[in-house]
Amino acid sequence: MVYLASEDRYEGMKYNRCGRTGLKLPAISLGLWHNFGGTSNAENGRNMVTRAFDLGITHFDLANNYGPPPGSAEQFFGQVLANDLKPYRDELIISTKAGYHMWPGPYGEWGSRKSLISSLDQSLKRMGLDYVDIFYSHRFDPDTPLEETMQALDHIVRSGKALYVGVSNYTAEKTAEAVRILKDLGTPMLIHQPRYSMLDRWIENGLQDVLEENGIGSIAFCPLEQGMLTNKYLNGVPEDSRAASASVFLNENNITPEALRKIRALNQMAAARGQSLAQFALAWVLRGGRVTSALIGASRPSQIEENVAALNNLEFSSEELERIESILRS
Ligand code: NDP
Repeated sequence: MVYLASEDRYEGMKYNRCGRTGLKLPAISLGLWHNFGGTSNAENGRNMVTRAFDLGITHFDLANNYGPPPGSAEQFFGQVLANDLKPYRDELIISTKAGYHMWPGPYGEWGSRKSLISSLDQSLKRMGLDYVDIFYSHRFDPDTPLEETMQALDHIVRSGKALYVGVSNYTAEKTAEAVRILKDLGTPMLIHQPRYSMLDRWIENGLQDVLEENGIGSIAFCPLEQGMLTNKYLNGVPEDSRAASASVFLNENNITPEALRKIRALNQMAAARGQSLAQFALAWVLRGGRVTSALIGASRPSQIEENVAALNNLEFSSEELERIESILRS
């Protein structure tokens, strides 16, 4: 069936300016790390992408290695673009990254000019695109001069293969260096993509200050801690969950009694506000406007609907924020 985007798709979403740049991103973005690869159900994947777009999610995040197998999430997204989203290309912000292992030999990972440019060329082919909106260095490479990695990003923008560039997983110090180099080259850094949630607060320790001082946006990945900050694991590990799947990134051992105690207490607070725990966790990540976008994953369209409804209540009282801190410390 031909896909026609919902006419009211821009009515419910909130769009936040990315740092001090001209680009706005949806407060909730969708990542294709899990559940969109070659081993996943393609119809479910298509339904998630189109449902997300109907809800105003204009930003879809990929990386060269998303799958499994690596590359297959980009291939899948390329099919959805070709079949469904092509007429809407100018309404979309599509990102991809290079840095983690992608192909054998010395050029298939990290941050050399050779690796980044070859990888982006492959990504563009897989997605059937002339350009991506955002291209990231996926991780800092300790063995390549940072100047080389940043020069490659600058070249990528100048050659028209990406409109903007960013970094992911860089420390506050390396981000500050990268910002300076890119500024000198004339291609400012748009965005940083760090991990951030109630259970992982590392960016509060310096990185957020560097980003704010330099007018750079941020998009928080794993804001739901891969599902731990939802109602999913409150009563055990369901068979159809990431923790029960073959994913090496989350397993039953991560759902510790200590984590569950906190999750249950947070869930009670969420219920008192009339929110699900997922909505509460996303509202918390977006509180105060320091994070441009919360980058969620999903395994079914209903999760995306539930998560976007987090935007109906983004305010926290100081008492609520203190109570959250005391639960997290306990
Ligand atoms: P989340 O923390 O949002 O976890 C998503 C998972 O949580 C879903 O797959 C689903 O798991 C579960 N979930 C989501 N919503 C609900 C809900 N309402 N109720 C119950 N369960 C829910 O993010 P991800 O870990 O998926 O990461 C998001 C994106 O971040 C990735 O796709 C990728 O784009 C990016 N990323 C970037 C990295 C980097 O190094 N730059 C690293 C990792 C991710 P289930 O399958 O159990 O239903």
